[in-house]
Amino acid sequence: MEWKDTMKPAGPVTLNNGWTLEVNHGVCIGAAPCTAMAPNTFALDDDAKAAILATVDQDDQETILNAARSCPVAAIIIKDAEGNVIFPA
Ligand code: SF4
Repeated sequence: MEWKDTMKPAGPVTLNNGWTLEVNHGVCIGAAPCTAMAPNTFALDDDAKAAILATVDQDDQETILNAARSCPVAAIIIKDAEGNVIFPA
């Protein structure tokens, strides 16, 4: 697996669109709908927690947003370029 940021695979990482994306590993339960919704963005790491792939910028905003919405524990946090939280809303 190649992560966007190998030093912090769960983020926060900044995307090309200016968004900051992070997976809260404290609450992620590895349920994995995020990996199905946005396969270029999320994959499970060795601890079965979602992390952010190097290919994240290949998924569009709606795809990433839908992945965040699909998370049963709201572990995916998205901020815009100004640092405002887009999700969870
Ligand atoms: S959907 Fe949520 S709980 Fe499941 S792997 Fe993704 S971030 Fe973790």
